[in-house]
Amino acid sequence: MKAAVVRDPVDGYVDIKDVKLRSLNYGEALVDVEYCGLCHTDLHVAAGDFGKVPGRIIGHEGVGIVSKLGEGVENLKIGDRVSIAWFYKGCGHCEYCLTGRETLCRNVKNSGFTVDGAMAQQVIVDANYAVKVPEGLDPVEATSLTCAGVTMYKALKVGETKPGQWVEVVGAGGLGNLAIQYAKHVFGAHVVAVDGNPDKLKAAKDGGADILINRKTQNVAEEIQKQVGGVHTAQVTAVNDAAFSQSVNALRPDGRLVAVALPQGDMKLNIAKTVLDGIQVAGSLVGTRQDLAETFQFGAEGLVHPIVKTRRLSEINDIIDEMKAGKITGRMVVDFTKE
Ligand SMILES: [Zn+2]
Ligand SMILES: [Zn+2]
Repeated sequence: MKAAVVRDPVDGYVDIKDVKLRSLNYGEALVDVEYCGLCHTDLHVAAGDFGKVPGRIIGHEGVGIVSKLGEGVENLKIGDRVSIAWFYKGCGHCEYCLTGRETLCRNVKNSGFTVDGAMAQQVIVDANYAVKVPEGLDPVEATSLTCAGVTMYKALKVGETKPGQWVEVVGAGGLGNLAIQYAKHVFGAHVVAVDGNPDKLKAAKDGGADILINRKTQNVAEEIQKQVGGVHTAQVTAVNDAAFSQSVNALRPDGRLVAVALPQGDMKLNIAKTVLDGIQVAGSLVGTRQDLAETFQFGAEGLVHPIVKTRRLSEINDIIDEMKAGKITGRMVVDFTKE
């Protein structure tokens, strides 16, 4: 079967190779992939940024149909549509796995990095960790909910977002656009979207943002304090570290900053402001299987629609170049139903 594997030597791109998968172990299932989105995390894997894994099949925004069951699988049947997320599996018995915080498991396996991923015609999953895609959810849209969707849905939970509150979404790209939609349409919050790109701000407006701020032409924190008296939560999805430090100033007292993006570097936090205003800062990483099931359900109900476009597997290195150049609004999804 055809798969996109990290090049050897590692150079930031992938090769499309004919790969033979191993046989299924106890509790595993084989999935015929329909669609798989290409994510910036895949680009990091292809570039060796998290450690070099030449030959690894990339992909963690996969959706496909179960075609074969290994021994001992009870929760899936042939024909089920399931997802393949970055959180491939946890150890199942540590403190984090046992208390609903499984993505923090120290022995976590990640699709397309520590195990072969879904940018392939077929992928092996651990049945207990393969979250089903509900009826009514478009499988192409589901690929983005598997990664950006669940990440932001979970981050809004971490921010303790409540109806009627103001949420600032910093960075209106792939993550930010879904943050806006979930904040507005699922959590019932009001949204301030911040970006430097007018096209992304336009998409933010379409996604439900109430206030748009262009960080290149406006003073973000001042504008937010003036217009709404500060936000209850800032969801920071921007890839520059300065955005993190600046977002603290957009908060109202008892505000929360949730760090979601992963720029290199540190964020500055004024101690007096943190103490006097009771500021809280939290990191949030993807989401659990239950978070993903909830994320999908809201998608199936039509409350959120990721911006997606299907492409061919043969174009994958072109897509990598387009992503590096920042040319893409939304997500490029490889269509394996045409391979
Ligand atoms: Zn991803
Ligand atoms: Zn664990």
